[in-house]
Amino acid sequence: MDVGHTLDAPGAISARGRTEFEFNRALAGRVVAALERLGLRAELINADGRIESLQARPERAAQAVFLISIHHDSVGAQYLTPWEWQGMALDFSDLWSGHSLFVSRRNPDIATSLLCASAIGARLQRAGFVPTEKNGRRREYADAQHAIHYYDNLVVLYRAQQPAVLFEAGVIKHRDEELLLRDPERQQRMAEEIATGVAACVTAGGLAGLRRAE
Ligand SMILES: [Zn+2]
Repeated sequence: MDVGHTLDAPGAISARGRTEFEFNRALAGRVVAALERLGLRAELINADGRIESLQARPERAAQAVFLISIHHDSVGAQYLTPWEWQGMALDFSDLWSGHSLFVSRRNPDIATSLLCASAIGARLQRAGFVPTEKNGRRREYADAQHAIHYYDNLVVLYRAQQPAVLFEAGVIKHRDEELLLRDPERQQRMAEEIATGVAACVTAGGLAGLRRAE
């Protein structure tokens, strides 16, 4: 379970001034705990935000059967509107909200990567989480129903030695969605759906079952 971004390069700043790294760390920790409750061994990569490089992330996952990198989405600068929140000059965009997933065709096991992404997306949608169409403008769909896109040149995905998925939990520049993404109870529900999807995918029976269901 890779925590996207670092303390030095913490990613986008939310509409209310929190870094993407902080969002990523909170959710990733909950997913690890949820996986462990399901009887799987899971480890956080970059929990301290001090990982030295992008390549080091898949290197740390060398022993894993599956790698998932947790991120939160932002929007292009042209869509941002300045506002002030608690005396801070910040910006927001309420245009898009929702989660999305990415896989790389350069990963050594794109078929299982996509299968796992679809399993996660399906669990989330069944639980009421709504995916975003935002990334369909620029990233080809691998599975449009579950908002899964090809993003072939993501280092963490193509340098992985196992199936790998990058998850964008939602758009932190969106003022309403940011509040949902900060809500611990909702984080927990999202983490449990992700963990259940991963478990279905990585356990031998689950993987075989998903392949039969295709
Ligand atoms: Zn990110």
